[in-house]
Amino acid sequence: GTTRPQVRIVIVGHVDHGKSTLVGRLLHETGSLPEGKLEMLKAVSARRGMPFEWSFLLDALQTERDQGITIDTTQIRFRTRSRDVVLIDAPGHAEFLRNMITGASQADGAVLIIDALEGVRDQTRRHGYLLHLLGIKQVAVVVNKMDRVDFGADRFKEISDEIWAHLIGLGVTPSAIIPISARDGDGVAEHTPRIGWYQGPTVVEALDTLEPARPLEQLALRLPVQAIYKFDDRRIVAGRIESGHLAAGDEIVIMPAGKIAKIKTVESWPVTPLKGSHGAGRSVGITLDRELFIERGDVIAHAGATPRDTRRIRARIFWLHDKPLSKGDQILIRLGTRETRASVVAIEKAVDPGELSNEETKAIARNHVGEIDISLAQPIAADPYQENPRTGRLVIEVNGRIAGGGLVLSVDAGQRAVP
Ligand code: GDP
Repeated sequence: GTTRPQVRIVIVGHVDHGKSTLVGRLLHETGSLPEGKLEMLKAVSARRGMPFEWSFLLDALQTERDQGITIDTTQIRFRTRSRDVVLIDAPGHAEFLRNMITGASQADGAVLIIDALEGVRDQTRRHGYLLHLLGIKQVAVVVNKMDRVDFGADRFKEISDEIWAHLIGLGVTPSAIIPISARDGDGVAEHTPRIGWYQGPTVVEALDTLEPARPLEQLALRLPVQAIYKFDDRRIVAGRIESGHLAAGDEIVIMPAGKIAKIKTVESWPVTPLKGSHGAGRSVGITLDRELFIERGDVIAHAGATPRDTRRIRARIFWLHDKPLSKGDQILIRLGTRETRASVVAIEKAVDPGELSNEETKAIARNHVGEIDISLAQPIAADPYQENPRTGRLVIEVNGRIAGGGLVLSVDAGQRAVP
């Protein structure tokens, strides 16, 4: 059969605005539920004398997942006409924000949900900002619970205008703004008479136009070194190919030092020789044609397509720690497999992304965002996020705990003289 493009999405928005309900509806409308599941849950609700909620579906699937009952233990999926859609994190999941910031989950697109009665809230704006921070460009907005505002076109327009202005201000152009009732089904997979005044796509149609990210295989080779093993008299450099591919015979450069070598063999770890070319996502061990000093944290790349070596990085970050981040703070940076001490040289554009008046402050408070310049104790190999999402993302630790993270905006190549 034909291969269907897979797209990974997140559903974000203020708590209670209807994320779980929308997921339940989407699973139902796209025929993605196991046989009899819906009927079973409806019967259980009836027996307990409580009204059925679409969000029960998500709860039930999550429970099964946690108990290891379902075979696909990691993700919730459904199909549109031409796409396989993977929901990469469950709404309300406690680790959601952290996973997004640290890059544990990477989305191609997002749905931002707004309760039609409540309108755009701080958390709505903050999540909008988060999409911008994470470089997610494909965003569909849904105005949910239209049944609570009598499906009024005027109320819909009011909210559309407000969220449109906010997202455009962040450089994110919504692909659609869709009036729906997740509870009743209007606008999810079908245009219904109650939203007869609306001409745009349904939620399912909007998801069907999402473009998958460029496969990591097509980007330049990045192999962050995890460890060096001595095996007999051979030295094996082990790591995961984060992007691109490699093969025996390739000329490589070890960054940030810039030393050159040739790949002698590629092996799976532990030690079975592998033939041919190996691409993104694969863990490998390689041997080189010469003895060089290599250590954990180095990045192996092809000559002519290397990451930058730098001691200065500008990053756009989201801050999670109770203590605000300030100029002069000493932090620990994790980028790829490298960890290095660093200090904050400058803070700009520190704002509360939830508030309308984006007044700049000098420190980045919890749940706030900002752009920072950091000076690293050691040179590091990095890429701007725009060029490589895997080596263009960093995590900040304070006292051994994740305190924030974000995207590399730019690196000052050759800034190695800065003490
Ligand atoms: P979440 O916290 O964003 O996941 O929100 P939920 O999906 O749990 O929904 C919160 C509440 O809003 C629940 O009581 C839902 O039944 C209700 N709700 C969700 N969608 C709709 C809708 O389209 N119309 C109405 N009237 N209520 C809805």
